[in-house]
Amino acid sequence: MFKGILIEKDDNGYRAALQEIDESQLPDGDVTINVQYSTLNYKDGLAITGKSPVVRKFPMIPGIDLVGTVENSTHPEYKPGDAVVLNGWGVGEAHWGGLAQKARLKGDWLVPLPKGFTPQQAMSIGTAGYTAMLCIMALEKHGVTPDKGEILVTGATGGVGSVAVAILAKLGYQVVAMTGRPESSEYVTALGASEVILRSEYAEPGRPLGRERWAGVVDVVGSHVLANACAATKYRGVVTACGLAGGMDLNTTVMPFILRGVTLAGVESVMCPRDTRLEAWRRLEQDLDLSKLNTIAHEIGLSDAIGTASQLLSGQVRGRVIVDVNR
Ligand code: NDP
Repeated sequence: MFKGILIEKDDNGYRAALQEIDESQLPDGDVTINVQYSTLNYKDGLAITGKSPVVRKFPMIPGIDLVGTVENSTHPEYKPGDAVVLNGWGVGEAHWGGLAQKARLKGDWLVPLPKGFTPQQAMSIGTAGYTAMLCIMALEKHGVTPDKGEILVTGATGGVGSVAVAILAKLGYQVVAMTGRPESSEYVTALGASEVILRSEYAEPGRPLGRERWAGVVDVVGSHVLANACAATKYRGVVTACGLAGGMDLNTTVMPFILRGVTLAGVESVMCPRDTRLEAWRRLEQDLDLSKLNTIAHEIGLSDAIGTASQLLSGQVRGRVIVDVNR
């Protein structure tokens, strides 16, 4: 038996609870893992609370991230004792995930724990941090260099936002953090933001084109914030869109794209090919100041994960949450 959070949906409704689960119920897979840590991302919050239909099979163990050691494996690349990391691939949505003491999944989905990180550090980064790195790689791919000007990071006190601010600052970019929580100004400044602006500036529908300010944008919010960010992006600037914390709608015009040559680059982490994942983790080892992770992440036990998931969705959690599944 092992402990895990189980989400069930039936005639009695949608519910998540910490349960003792029989190992025989683990899904098919070629690698069985003793999980050490998982995390709480926005998507885990949606899964645990049922606020959005991200879970596609029931019962489900949520947790789109995990780090642990291989217990047994028939996959050629992994042997017992290997330290591994999992992000995405539909785990925690369609395949049992990391918010449990054991997991069984496809070895092809795993990456070796990067040598530069402890298990806690890898989860302090997690899907949110790895997605932040994907956004920054997209800015770079489209030619955004530190000399081009300011980079806007929205939802800056959240998981993706916090890690994006820290990496961009270390790379020498001038980072402007947008937040709905002015009381967290010191936090984002400590991560490397040179200025903090309020989300309310972009919260309402704006003009098709505004004053050109941003050389690049990392947006986790969507909706009016993303539309206003596009309208204020400089000639040939790049806007990366990875999230919908403020809404999935996007009411904009073609003006920023056809008059200023702005690029809107979508960023997706779940099915991202293995080569790009490995490159993102390599870049995280190189370009993230690990001391910042102590500021960004805090740890909870598995029994606290359900309560914290609701707080996360209501914007009461700052930075990253890592979950010790053995307490
Ligand atoms: P968090 O909850 O940690 O952070 C989200 C942040 O967005 C909050 O901290 C808050 O920042 C801001 N926010 C929250 N609610 C609202 C709101 N109603 N309107 C505007 N802003 C809001 O989530 P993550 O960082 O884990 O994820 C951020 C987004 O990115 C999510 O939508 C998630 O689904 C998406 N995502 C997408 C991935 C992909 O593969 N495309 C991968 C990972 C995440 P503040 O208070 O500072 O404004």
